Amino acid sequence: MKKIALLGSTGSIGTQTLEIVREQKDIQVTALAAGSNHVLLERQIREFRPRLAVLWEEKAAKELQASVRDLDVTILFGMEGLLAIAVMPEAEILVTAIVGMLGIRPTVAAIEAGKTIALANKETLVTAGHIIMPLAKEHHVPILPVDSEHSAIFQSLHGEKGNSIHKILLTASGGPFRGKKRQDLSQVQVEDALRHPNWSMGKKITIDSATMVNKGLEVIEAKWLFNVKLEQIQVVVHPESVIHSMVEYEDGAVIAQLGTPDMRLPIQYALYYPKRRILSGKRLDFFQLASLTFEEPDLDTFHGLALAFEAMKRGGNIPTVYNAANEKAVALFLESKISFLDIAELIQSCMEQCTFIEQPSVAQILETEAEVYDLIESRW
Ligand code: NAD
Ligand code: MG
Repeated sequence: MKKIALLGSTGSIGTQTLEIVREQKDIQVTALAAGSNHVLLERQIREFRPRLAVLWEEKAAKELQASVRDLDVTILFGMEGLLAIAVMPEAEILVTAIVGMLGIRPTVAAIEAGKTIALANKETLVTAGHIIMPLAKEHHVPILPVDSEHSAIFQSLHGEKGNSIHKILLTASGGPFRGKKRQDLSQVQVEDALRHPNWSMGKKITIDSATMVNKGLEVIEAKWLFNVKLEQIQVVVHPESVIHSMVEYEDGAVIAQLGTPDMRLPIQYALYYPKRRILSGKRLDFFQLASLTFEEPDLDTFHGLALAFEAMKRGGNIPTVYNAANEKAVALFLESKISFLDIAELIQSCMEQCTFIEQPSVAQILETEAEVYDLIESRW
């Protein structure tokens, strides 16, 4: 039996992780954590029988506690709960599928406790890659990517030990507004931005796909995971989302991983790495596909992507500013308080105004997040 603890169990990645557990039947779930959805978490507890379950909100945790009194499960809340999950002795793998920078501290704690990390939460590496990667190395802990592009790169590196990467070709669907120009996007509504052509994901990441900030975050994530220079990462728009990313080697050979757009594959690959297992669902049909197409990203329309390269180049806490400003901007956009194009504007203005810190500690990363939030709240 594999033993996993899962942060973010009620979300898009979390529920798909549990689908794999249900299908494969040889994974034991030792702990589950979510934000506030105590109804779904209770159902998950009854099905998967973890020893520990955590809700972020105390009130929701109390309700959960009352409703699972008949079971042998400990209920905790808040960061203390997430940290308890991260270090619990029973779990071998921590799946980090919560949204936001909240993922940093549990990930650090889990690495220090020697857990393998199946990493979906990209904010962790974007903001704290300089802390997480050396720490994982020091503790000999593998960081297994769950993000489909990074999983594809990881799979394309398999068997290539000693051969250095010449270039990473990070594919992007282009989102619902591919081909549009800036002026076409000024009146975009929340519903339009939530309509992703290929992937079904949480709301925040779906908006990030529409602005292409998601790709920006992934560029930064890839830089840390695969230890390459920023110039070695090229974003390739590939609307069919069949090639999940590629690696070009020094001799010009390009190795890619292809598949239907189904997050369960990268999740399962991380859980059983390096083993592959049968997975239900559709397979690629090349005759039906007929052709695959590629485009250069439009960095003027999707300015948020250009800003990610700038943030990474400046380094220090600027990727944190980029990420925090985006988180706040997306929340404001989802409440219809700012326009779609304002999202990138707001990120840029925060990147210009926030205090620069060269080597931020975890505490300074969280302080930067607070500074960005204050700045945005004082102006919008
Ligand atoms: P989601 O919004 O669907 O789910 C988020 C989960 O986190 C939920 O279970 C929620 O309850 C939990 N959560 C939120 N706030 C919390 C808190 N304060 N404490 C504890 N739990 C909390 O998001 P998602 O789409 O599943 O994405 C999760 C992460 O994975 C993100 O970092 C995202 O960038 C990354 N990711 C997602 C996909 C995808 O296909 N959905 C692909 C690649 C990477
Ligand atoms: Mg992705």
